[in-house]
Amino acid sequence: MEDRELIERIMKLKKDRNAVILVHNYQPGEVQDIADFLGDSLELSRKAAESDADVIVFCGVRFMAETAAILCPDKTVLLPDPEAGCPLADMVTVEALRRKKAEHPEAFVVCYVNSSAEVKAESDVCCTSANAVRIVEQIDGKVLFVPDQYLGRHVASRTGKELILWPGFCPVHMNILPQDIEELKREHPEARVVVHPECRPEVTALADEVLSTGGMCRYAGETESQTLIVGTEVGILHRLRRENPGKTFLPASERAVCSNMKRITPEKVLHSLEDLSPRVEVPEDIRLRAKAALDAMVQVG
Ligand code: SF4
Repeated sequence: MEDRELIERIMKLKKDRNAVILVHNYQPGEVQDIADFLGDSLELSRKAAESDADVIVFCGVRFMAETAAILCPDKTVLLPDPEAGCPLADMVTVEALRRKKAEHPEAFVVCYVNSSAEVKAESDVCCTSANAVRIVEQIDGKVLFVPDQYLGRHVASRTGKELILWPGFCPVHMNILPQDIEELKREHPEARVVVHPECRPEVTALADEVLSTGGMCRYAGETESQTLIVGTEVGILHRLRRENPGKTFLPASERAVCSNMKRITPEKVLHSLEDLSPRVEVPEDIRLRAKAALDAMVQVG
């Protein structure tokens, strides 16, 4: 099928189904180009909650589609490739979290949105990379932060609080090394460096700004700098270049590619809309408890 015909079929079916296509900033360029909304996890969860569509096609990974299903129980949530998971989210299981909670019964559990619905259900509040600092600032007392140790360390450094960290990490952001940034800085001394808080501390230490992907998109439009070195998954470069055609964006590392994010294609979006599958559903008892943790996040911002 020609690209144009494929897009036309997606658009027609989207209308027939009263569907909305939510696309994460790390998705392949051709998927970003069919988005109704493009954003980071926090922005997309807000869009999901506000939408009056009957069907949400979530172009991202499983935990993101689960978050939409938790917030929108009356909508059909589709994940066009059911194998699109997140290795970071898989680094904490509900059983392991319960054991850790038993060791620290007084701790408040803050759970990065990159986690399963079951883990969210076992937590007091969720956070994203965009609001993690604000969320932890509001908490008095001990915090157990799961599952990303590097986001946790970044939050600890910004809030001055000592957190109990889980040993999880994003293997994609681990591919960005300090020497990658140093080399690019030597070649482009005028460039500003923006990195994601899932990066190693040695990398965030070299950055001018540590931002979520949504924050990077805003920063790119506002900064006077014409060249940015971007330390996150390379999919974001498509959006940054499209929205800022006069500026230069350099990936901190070409190795920062999330194969799970790249599982979604326009063809799979079409099939998903045709069959209304694969669906993502969360059992009601887990959904209600996970929603309480997400609601607690939304209240803080
Ligand atoms: S980039 Fe990292 S955290 Fe994001 S979905 Fe891929 S593996 Fe998970």
